[in-house]
Amino acid sequence: MQQSSRVRRFAVALVMIGAFSAAYALGRSDERSGRDLTPVPAFAQEAGDGLKRKTYYPNTEELAPNEMRVISLGTGMPNQRKSQASACWLVELGNGDKFLFDLGTGSVANLSVLEIPYDLVNKAFIGHLHSDHVGDFAAWFIGGWVGNRQRPPRIWGPDGPADHPNWGTQYYVERQVESYAWDIDGRSGRLPTAGGGIEVNEFPHDRFSVVYEEDGVKISAWPAVHIMAGPVSFSLEWNGRKFVFSSDTYPNQWFIEHGKNADIVIHETFGTIRQNIDLQGWAPENSAMVSARVHTPPAAAGKVFSMVEPRMAIAYHFFNDTDTWQEMYDEIRSTYSGPLSLAKDLMVWNVTDEGVTVRDVVAQEAVWPAVSPYGSAPPDAADREELPPWLVDGIQPMEDIIKGYYERQGVAEFYEQQIPRK
Ligand SMILES: [Zn+2]
Ligand SMILES: [Zn+2]
Repeated sequence: MQQSSRVRRFAVALVMIGAFSAAYALGRSDERSGRDLTPVPAFAQEAGDGLKRKTYYPNTEELAPNEMRVISLGTGMPNQRKSQASACWLVELGNGDKFLFDLGTGSVANLSVLEIPYDLVNKAFIGHLHSDHVGDFAAWFIGGWVGNRQRPPRIWGPDGPADHPNWGTQYYVERQVESYAWDIDGRSGRLPTAGGGIEVNEFPHDRFSVVYEEDGVKISAWPAVHIMAGPVSFSLEWNGRKFVFSSDTYPNQWFIEHGKNADIVIHETFGTIRQNIDLQGWAPENSAMVSARVHTPPAAAGKVFSMVEPRMAIAYHFFNDTDTWQEMYDEIRSTYSGPLSLAKDLMVWNVTDEGVTVRDVVAQEAVWPAVSPYGSAPPDAADREELPPWLVDGIQPMEDIIKGYYERQGVAEFYEQQIPRK
């Protein structure tokens, strides 16, 4: 039964692939709200402007029609800490469109504080399949489903080399879904079934290619140099704006070529060799290899920034602490003197013609998921797996209590149909 349910759900997802243009039309919050798009002043950083709001309160600022907003949802390392989740970035556009880049472990909790419906953060682009870049896949895919998502989300990522298709995104997503068979089969028919499907889009890892082109948004990918073949970096271009994200990479010529003319360039840089010896506990040989060969050292990231000259350079992928930032800053400044942000989680950058501002998000941690713009479909009993008789036999009889509970909670009409039956 579980197998058949999974096959049925995949079929749903495949059917849905062709129907997404309609979803996009519904996904534009500005059109839905019908509100005036006059920009809220976002330039709190301007000199002498101390009275303007300096912090970003989620869901209080409409984007101007040509404005881009970038929010850091994960800026840390593969090892977990509360103050910095692993890699994840949200890009929001003035047309209402939203895109996630990487889904690193712990990042979806940061996404939640923005209180955006999961149906509107349903497009994720994965640079490579390290857990610190895709480890929150299930939190986004299944957690978002429980969090009111009504439609299958969409994910893009690189394929694997011909001799290693198991290094590709399709392989990863299919095995993730398979491994959650018990979870997904149990929720199907209890949650809106379509929300448990997923659309996977693989693209070549070994060349430049346009991987997404819808509603005036173009996303491109090109090879990143990171341990083995497979990883990529991305650009997003829309309405004259350009966002570039390295995911993980060593300095490389493709990034310098395709990273030019960008408003925002996010490039990874790793904590210094000494930091990873003294604070991370690594042996010197390991630290040198990981900090300066697997990843980009801060002075080399600065050199990349100098070569691509963004309106705002953002360095991420290091533990940005009181006792580390100064060394990172000095290393980057040894090779780069332009606009620079050292990323922490829940920073926000607004991009307009006038400039690029950087502020902090005010985060309410105790949030509930936002309602979907598509409503909330009732579950389809045909998709539901039921308890086997031997487990029904094990239920402690207390129907008088349960019936009263249905009544007190205002859902008495569902009581009869939901009594477990053998
Ligand atoms: Zn990596
Ligand atoms: Zn990484």
